[in-house]
Amino acid sequence: MRHLYIGGSWTASASDEPIEVVNPATEEIIDHVPAGTAADVDAAVRAARRAFPSWADTAPAERGKLLGNAAELLKQRADDMAKIIATDMGSPLGLALKVQTLLPATVLSSYAQLAESYPRESRIGNSHVIKEAAGVVAAITPWNYPLHQVICKVGPALAAGCTVVLKPSEVAPLAAYALTEIFAEVGLPPGVLNLVSGRGPVVGEAMATHPEVDVVSFTGSTAAGRRVSTLAAESFKRVSLELGGKSAAIVLPDAELALAVKFGVANCLLNSGQTCSACTRMLIHRDRYDEAVRIAVDTARTYIVGDPFNENTKVGPLVSAAQRDRVIRYINRGQEEGARLVAGGTDSPLAKGYYVEPTIFAGVEPGMTIEQEEIFGPVLAMIPYTSVDEAVEIANGTPYGLSGAIWSGSEEFAISIARRLRTGQVAINGGQFNPLAPFGGYKQSGIGRELGEYGLQEYLELKSLQL
Ligand code: NAD
Repeated sequence: MRHLYIGGSWTASASDEPIEVVNPATEEIIDHVPAGTAADVDAAVRAARRAFPSWADTAPAERGKLLGNAAELLKQRADDMAKIIATDMGSPLGLALKVQTLLPATVLSSYAQLAESYPRESRIGNSHVIKEAAGVVAAITPWNYPLHQVICKVGPALAAGCTVVLKPSEVAPLAAYALTEIFAEVGLPPGVLNLVSGRGPVVGEAMATHPEVDVVSFTGSTAAGRRVSTLAAESFKRVSLELGGKSAAIVLPDAELALAVKFGVANCLLNSGQTCSACTRMLIHRDRYDEAVRIAVDTARTYIVGDPFNENTKVGPLVSAAQRDRVIRYINRGQEEGARLVAGGTDSPLAKGYYVEPTIFAGVEPGMTIEQEEIFGPVLAMIPYTSVDEAVEIANGTPYGLSGAIWSGSEEFAISIARRLRTGQVAINGGQFNPLAPFGGYKQSGIGRELGEYGLQEYLELKSLQL
């Protein structure tokens, strides 16, 4: 069984209970991590607290240099890291390399630079305003982008001068282990980054309530985020939450239909639909709806489902049996509520592994369960609309507000519609993800932002010196 990383040493957990790590493509057990305890969390938080004053006092350029060295080592080991992620959570290898590994390496490099370049002092009238490291950070992360989500917290926290206790998802913890090894190798001082594996209700809750934790940064489901937020409120910790989504792509009547629909299907199926910001609802004008459904079905049929290590594979398995079963329940529910299954379904395409076929529902109406709730699988809901106002209303009509997309022949018109969406980001005509732009949600998709300088601000406290 693996160890925990506390105070600069790999340390046995106070518990001898292992958590099995399963390869979702083969259903084989590939590793064991400790089911950490509240005592482990306490040891890790104390180590982080001890390390805090000197790390916060370390020159920003020095902190940036360590982050930069870690980013370089990660890039050198990118192939190995991609294999770990493909095996641990089932992303096809190409995606595991490009999106799951090299993108987070870029994010880490960006924080190596921001550590030094972000201005920490300013003047307002007779006040000198200082931005200081906020303290000890509890970082709790999910399994779907298991390296990226860790780096989106650890990168800015360390750049700001905070120390960290990290709890990766117990479902896919191995990338976090490999990253911790990288930080140890580049010489991060003991206690600056600590890793405690384990289950949310035990380790995560102990972190959210620990009196020596100043900031809780959580990415995961809305239900667990609510629990973390409630617990952290008892001691008024700063909390940032990156939660679920049910984002909509609005294809406006003047859009290039085939391009928008093909792009939309790809976006929804990325990482087997296990992407918080995926546009899992596609809104099409009634006049072009049937044509759009035909294009979507034809596109989905070209997506090869299978072994993440096969280079033709576009859709790997879901992360676990529980996740596969949850997705199948939603597919059944969609049919029960009267939506039309036009591609995919509940039959498993392979004898082994937690696979679900790319699935498309047509005739989806606002208010149906599959239109409202996050499924987190390769399931696209196609919804017809009559007017642009109705499309905006449908897009905004869920408790979520993470992301969205607008397709139009006129960028200006698309932007005017994007302004009406209550979401944290909107892609215009396929606009690319920007690792320096703020990422986060409105409404029940979260509080706060990650990435770039806005992500850094989550880990800084403000102090005004009145002169
Ligand atoms: P999850 O909420 O089950 O788990 C996320 C993390 O929280 C894990 O480390 C888990 O152990 C921990 N946790 C669970 N219960 C907890 C509790 N009571 N107290 C403290 N910690 C607890 O989510 P998941 O299934 O791992 O990930 C999928 C979810 O994450 C989806 O809803 C997805 O939309 C969301 N997500 C959001 C973003 C974003 O940036 N908005 C990014 C990725 C994933």
